[in-house]
Amino acid sequence: MNGELLETRDVVCNWTLYQITECYCSRAGWITSCYDCNTYYQYEWVCSGSYSGGGGGGGGSTPPSSDSDPDDNINPIEALISPIFECLYNEFMKGNYSLFNQTIGVFKDLTNYQLNFKPGSIYDHTSWWYDGSNICNIDIYLDLNQSPINMADAILHEGIHAAMSLYLVDDGIPTGLNTVQYLQYYKTYSGYRDYADHVFIGDFYIKPIARVLRQLDSNRLPEYKYYGIVYEGIERAVEAAGVTRLVDEYSQYKSYNNEARQNSRICDGSNY
Ligand SMILES: [Zn+2]
Repeated sequence: MNGELLETRDVVCNWTLYQITECYCSRAGWITSCYDCNTYYQYEWVCSGSYSGGGGGGGGSTPPSSDSDPDDNINPIEALISPIFECLYNEFMKGNYSLFNQTIGVFKDLTNYQLNFKPGSIYDHTSWWYDGSNICNIDIYLDLNQSPINMADAILHEGIHAAMSLYLVDDGIPTGLNTVQYLQYYKTYSGYRDYADHVFIGDFYIKPIARVLRQLDSNRLPEYKYYGIVYEGIERAVEAAGVTRLVDEYSQYKSYNNEARQNSRICDGSNY
């Protein structure tokens, strides 16, 4: 199935629907050993036009090579089909969220790297590839049908994977993250990023991500009530890695997830 046109703002996207098999390691960067596979349908978008939303940028789906606008190194265009994503992206790009600035925001200032947001399956994930002009592309695939609070969590979670991919590709690039500690996890798990990245997120970034979710949610609930949402994103991997300290500390907070999702003020329609 293909050829349908879908228009959002001044961007026209042409999509193809195809069947894909993906396995339950999909948040693991470029890891290929997978299990628990599922088949689903995925859209592939080719977009043209321009986007000029607040703080956004990017023009077309081709990575720019030499452009004076630094925001062009972050290309959200294909994911902007989702108003929730657009709202979150614009909010993050205002620059008031330090964890975002330390991960995805780092790409604003890089010339040979391109961060792309793309519509994905129910398993959010991040991958990278080089194009013909030696631009390193890091693609973040997001489930655009998830709730705003989960999408905000996914953007921050995948942003950490993207920043770690960047660090592994070129450790001369500074990020705001604990890269020294990350290398220890990377060595401990012999480069198996599904474990290394998620245990790293569990030990260092559950609370910072929860803090951002609370900030986005107008401080509606105490910080600990957001821990469970963040923990859900790493639960499978830390359980598989046998890291019981994280399971013991954070699984209890999932009991607040419904409360965190219900009546969330995060991009609830009133502010975009
Ligand atoms: Zn992940």
